[in-house]
Amino acid sequence: VAHKLLEGSLLEEARRGSREALAELLSTDLPWLTSALAEEADRSMKAHVGSKVYYRGLLEFSNHCTSDCLYCGIRAGNTEVERYTLDRDRVMRAVAACIDEGYGSLTLQSGERRDPAFVEYVCSLLREIKEMSRSDDLPEGLGITLCVGEQDEAVYRRFFAAGAHRYLLRIESGSPELFASMHPESQSFEARLSALRSLRRVGFQVGTGVMIGLPGQSAEDLADDILFFRREGIDMIGMGPYIPHAQTPMGSGDRLTPAERHRRLRLSLRMIALTRIVLCDVNIAATTALQALDPLGREMALAAGANVVMPILTPGEVRAQYTLYNGKPCTDEDAGTCTVCISRRVASTSRRAGYNEWGDSPHFAERMRQAGAPA
Ligand code: SF4
Repeated sequence: VAHKLLEGSLLEEARRGSREALAELLSTDLPWLTSALAEEADRSMKAHVGSKVYYRGLLEFSNHCTSDCLYCGIRAGNTEVERYTLDRDRVMRAVAACIDEGYGSLTLQSGERRDPAFVEYVCSLLREIKEMSRSDDLPEGLGITLCVGEQDEAVYRRFFAAGAHRYLLRIESGSPELFASMHPESQSFEARLSALRSLRRVGFQVGTGVMIGLPGQSAEDLADDILFFRREGIDMIGMGPYIPHAQTPMGSGDRLTPAERHRRLRLSLRMIALTRIVLCDVNIAATTALQALDPLGREMALAAGANVVMPILTPGEVRAQYTLYNGKPCTDEDAGTCTVCISRRVASTSRRAGYNEWGDSPHFAERMRQAGAPA
C-alpha cells in the first residue's frame, strides 16, 4: 500500500472511483495512511469548496417516532424514552438563538411521523422561521435543512414550498442486505432510495449518510457507499461511526472496547477523507458521533475534508431524551455552552467560520447549472 500510495497510483484509482482501490485504502488501518488521506482531502476541499466552516444550528424538536430502526435509541419500541415535542414558542426561542449566533442555517430534526397534524406543524414552523429570520444580514432568512424521515413526495413538496431547501435522509448503508439487517420488514432499501430520488425531483439539496463500522460491514461495502453517493448525485454527506445504544436490539450487550473505538474513529476519518477525494464539491459534516469516540473527533473530521459543523440548539432539559446512540456528547449542556465550545473548536483548526452564510453545497449549484436551472 505504501509503495502504491507513494507512486500515486492507488490514490488516482480511488479518485476515479475504483472500488478495489477504495476498499484497500479503507481497510489499511495505519496512522500514517489516515493522515496522508486527510492531507489529500484537505487539499481537495480547499480547491473545490474553500476552507470555510459552515454552521447548521441543530434543533431536535421532537423525539416521537413511528419507526423501529434496530440501532436507534428513540425507536418507537423503546419504552424507556420520555417523549417530547417542542411547542412553537420553544422552537422560536431556539431559532432566535441560531440567528443571534450568526449560524446562518438551521437544521430541524425529529423522529419519523407522517400524520397530517405533524406535517402541518412542520410546515407552519418552516413558514414562521423563514419570516422571522429575514434581516439585513440574512435577506433570504435562515437556510433550513429538514431531517424528518421518509415522507410522500407530495409532503416533500409542501415542506419545500414552506421554506426548507435542504433535506437530510440517511440511507445508513448503501448495501440493501445491510440495510435489511438493521431495519424491520416494514422499512425497505427501495423505499429509502425512492424517497431520496423524490427529494431530488422536488428540488431539495439532498443529503444522506451511512454508519461506519456496522456489524458485518466490509471495506467493500463502505467503498460502495462512496460510489452510491456519487451515483445518486448526493449534495451533502452526514456520516459517522456506528455506536451501539443499549436499549436497542442491535446494541444491547454490545460494548465498544477502547481499541475498537480508536479503530472505528480512524476508519471514519478515512471514509470522510475518501468521500471528499472522490466527490470533491459536496458539503460534509463533522458529526457529533465522532466526538463520542474521541474528544477531538470533530476537529479531526474538519482536518480530513469536512466543512460543516452542527452546534446543538436543543434545549438542555430535553437533550438527554434525544440519544440515538450511547455516549452522545453535549447532552448535559445548553445552547450557550455549545456556542462557545464549537467556536473554540473551529478556531483551533485555523479555519474561518462562515457566519451569516448559508454555505450551500457547490455540488448542488453545479447540478442546477447542468440542468439549466438557476441554483
Ligand atoms: S433512525 Fe430515525 S426513523 Fe429510525 S427509529 Fe430513529 S428516529 Fe426513528
